Amino acid sequence: MSEILLSKSAYEHNLTQIAKKVGSKKRIIAVLKDNAYGHGALLMGKIASEFGIEIACVKSELEARELSRLFKSIIVLSHLPTGAENGEFIYAINELRALEKIRPNSQIHLAIDTLMHRNGIDITEIETAINIIKKRNLILKGAFTHFRASDEHSGDYFVQKENFKQAKDKIKEFFDGELIFHSHNSAAIERSADIGDEYVRAGMAQFGYFGFNDSLGLKRVLSLYADRISSRVLRTGQSVGYGGVFTATSDMNIATYDLGYGDGLLRYNGKGELYLANGKPILGKMSMDSFSSIDMGERICVFDNADIWAEFFGTINYDILVKLSPTIARRVVE
Ligand SMILES: *Cc1c(COP(=O)(O)O)cnc(C)c1O
Repeated sequence: MSEILLSKSAYEHNLTQIAKKVGSKKRIIAVLKDNAYGHGALLMGKIASEFGIEIACVKSELEARELSRLFKSIIVLSHLPTGAENGEFIYAINELRALEKIRPNSQIHLAIDTLMHRNGIDITEIETAINIIKKRNLILKGAFTHFRASDEHSGDYFVQKENFKQAKDKIKEFFDGELIFHSHNSAAIERSADIGDEYVRAGMAQFGYFGFNDSLGLKRVLSLYADRISSRVLRTGQSVGYGGVFTATSDMNIATYDLGYGDGLLRYNGKGELYLANGKPILGKMSMDSFSSIDMGERICVFDNADIWAEFFGTINYDILVKLSPTIARRVVE
């Protein structure tokens, strides 16, 4: 059975490196959305929590419920207000209207739009927001923003830092309760000279891939293994798989391994060379539940570096990892 191995020591190393940069592990918010970027939310969440991380960040209430026993606080990023919010979770407020719909006494973090124009309220809406918060007895616990290009060499990062500073001042002007602020994602953590007393939302850096530069010396956590279903000799002139797009130019020992696009791998169409971890190519089109290559024994590593697949498919490593099906077995190893 194919399997994902997750290195506990690599994950702890990455958390340690981030904690050093930020000043304390208590200021790390572990972003574990989308099954922890395909790694496995519960498995990663357990390690993060034992490591001393107290806050997690997820996409939905469903994800929050899965992790609720592990963390002191869980921030739900993409919640659509229902009026029946869970008092234990913290909900991101992505627009003013959400403040009117969410259940009174809900805990919230205000998302501030500082340039990305994806989610959050405008800086000019802060006073109105705080008035609604007070009127509706919402429990404001923090505010945050998200960088649109922290992984790029552009001025945007600095513009947004400045805008967020203004937003923080404005919030403090109208609200005097205790709040936490957070803006830095992985690439921003890597590049920042000074995070001040903010918390950070660490996503991909936890899992060993850097977005801006490798200043943290990260180690990749996930490796993907496939097991042999069958093997045979592919004779000269014979072709393997759908459409027969790979043809043997000499007799070769080939095997079929038990991972395919049904397991969340992007579908290789047999064109161009897509390499497995040991440098051997996949032969012919990938099937839903398998692919073929030369016979390399019972178990092979498909990848331990998602960048190779991301580059081949013209996408980002996030896209390769997050699609790995939750039905693939996952095991934590040292
Ligand atoms: C996904 C996400 C993050 C984490 O981003 P990384 O680049 O993976 O560190 C942080 N904040 C928000 C709002 C996100 O959606």
